[in-house]
Amino acid sequence: MKKKYILAIDQGTTSTRAIIFNDQGKPVASAAKEIRQIYPHPGWVEHDANEYWESTMCCIAKAFSAGNITASEIDSIGITCQRETVILWDKETGEPLYNAIVWQSRQSASICEELKDKGFADIIRKKTGLFIDAYFSGTKIKWMMENVPGINDKIKRRKVLAGNVDSYLIWKLSGRAYHVEDCTNASRTMLMNIHTLKWDEELLDMLSIPSYILPDIKQSCGIIAKTDPAVFFGESIPISGDAGDQQAALFGQACFYPGMAKNTYGTALALMMNTGDVSVMSSNGLMTDLAWCIKNKPVYALEGLVFIGGAAIQWLRDGLGLISTAAQSQELALKVSDTGGVYMVPAFTGLCAPYWDMYARGLLIGITRGTTKEHIVRSALESMAYQTKDVLDSMIADCGQSPKSLRVDGGAVENTFLMQFQSDILGIPVEVPEVTEMTALGAAYLAGLGTGYWSGLDQISAQWRIAKVYEPKMSIDERTELYTGWKKAVARSLDWAKH
Ligand code: ADP
Repeated sequence: MKKKYILAIDQGTTSTRAIIFNDQGKPVASAAKEIRQIYPHPGWVEHDANEYWESTMCCIAKAFSAGNITASEIDSIGITCQRETVILWDKETGEPLYNAIVWQSRQSASICEELKDKGFADIIRKKTGLFIDAYFSGTKIKWMMENVPGINDKIKRRKVLAGNVDSYLIWKLSGRAYHVEDCTNASRTMLMNIHTLKWDEELLDMLSIPSYILPDIKQSCGIIAKTDPAVFFGESIPISGDAGDQQAALFGQACFYPGMAKNTYGTALALMMNTGDVSVMSSNGLMTDLAWCIKNKPVYALEGLVFIGGAAIQWLRDGLGLISTAAQSQELALKVSDTGGVYMVPAFTGLCAPYWDMYARGLLIGITRGTTKEHIVRSALESMAYQTKDVLDSMIADCGQSPKSLRVDGGAVENTFLMQFQSDILGIPVEVPEVTEMTALGAAYLAGLGTGYWSGLDQISAQWRIAKVYEPKMSIDERTELYTGWKKAVARSLDWAKH
């Protein structure tokens, strides 16, 4: 008899969640637990990897109890996690050998500089789709090898395992039976070749990382491990879905075909566009991602990250005190019919795609005696929409395909003013889905597809439901005029911190 539910584990930077989905792809029970952030030095961010395991098991138990569900009713498990965060652990004791180094952490920046100085940027880009940056796990592993006493000796004695968060959790869930990780997580190590989906000898040599510490690379969908009944509620359940968080969100949005795109409006903005079986190398500063691999068919995507999305609204609240809640931004923005010519470029930490200028700094421009706080709040919201257009236009230029709509998720999609303005500025519909826990839903879809719980992509596409669509209402002239103003404002913010 078909089992009733899919369990998704979503291990994120600030919290771990467990969400149980039914066969309609609707969440029926969930639990979340915060993760402690450790800042040992300015610019370094670490987690206690034991917390990943403890919080995961705690959330699963809570979700079971909240939904009155037992492990025997679970068909399969999907895992999604913060990408690039990496752990080295002792093969025999299971103990982490150092804290997990979190994706944001910059401690391997000098290792990255060395790679750049040695002229490796091009080959790394071609093989991995990535720019050399301390975000990616490879240089973090190297940093631990160089800085954690005794680790190299243990590695030589083959007593060390390495992996991203999914790999560590699967090793634990399976009672140490499987040291595996999915290809999308592996693609963010800067050690995997996105064309062969294998660890790349040349890249491993660049960082002197032995391949025997790394997990076996698996597809994102299909049974890759099973839980050990001794650790998992007395049941052996297939783990059949696994993907990095942004890839899982693209899958959760059912962006299965080339030209389909999603944007996540969180602290940052994370845009991804499916490019099918073509790994497009961007000329506009976007990353080439492996989106997933199903039935041995890799699917690729372009990815653009905008550092300051919802964070601009946090700044209005916490830095300027102009609003008391993020939601209030909408109320104020709607009190005026436009920004009165004001633009905010929130380049607080520089600008990324498509500008890539770490010396750019934020500005408010176009201020007159008539400018009110409503105009300023509105300009902050509009900046999210303009930055989204910057990235989406780059994607279109790179792959020659225009999305028919933009599927959206993340905290700021609650803002109806922003969503309407987004649609107006892009000139395409913006679609808000019914289920907003996109990363977890994507992991659940991958898991259910992997066991046959769902029959295929068509079934999932059919059950993906829109809660609300925003259609473009602005004239082309107005859109062009507003966007031209934005570009002029951006031009003034570039290079600012250099002078
Ligand atoms: P993250 O997962 O990155 O923590 P969330 O998806 O929870 O982010 O979204 C939170 C972000 O969205 C915050 O930066 C917040 O300022 C912004 N935000 C939340 N609600 C609104 C709103 N109604 N209008 C505009 N921004 C909002």
